[in-house]
Amino acid sequence: MKEKSIFKKIIDRDIPANIIYEDDLSIIIEDISPQAPIHFLAIPKKEIKGISDMTEADTDIIGHLMLIIKKQMADKDIKDYRLVVNNGSEAGQTVFHLHIHVLANRTLGWPPG
Ligand code: 5GP
Repeated sequence: MKEKSIFKKIIDRDIPANIIYEDDLSIIIEDISPQAPIHFLAIPKKEIKGISDMTEADTDIIGHLMLIIKKQMADKDIKDYRLVVNNGSEAGQTVFHLHIHVLANRTLGWPPG
């Protein structure tokens, strides 16, 4: 049996996390090592390794993640935020289960490092 990713373990409640939102398709959790005062991870429950592994069948899940992020941030009255998806280890991906970083509440420089 293949090893579960950290995020699959969180989804299955094998390990704890601060889950701030959940529905049938997705969860949003607080990052364990925040890089900004707000640092959430929006994660599909479907095990997709990364953007490179998406298929046409996954089109809707990305739209869904965007909308739940929008709602969470609106509920928190946060208007300015950055979304990041690292794809591949050279781009900084360390957990190979698709996730969108949501960063806010500090000034974010450009270009990113
Ligand atoms: P990546 O580097 O793959 O784009 O992002 C993975 C993120 O997952 C990192 O920001 C890291 O801090 C976070 N992370 C890794 N392990 C855990 C964990 O056990 N719990 C939570 N909440 N976040 C984690």
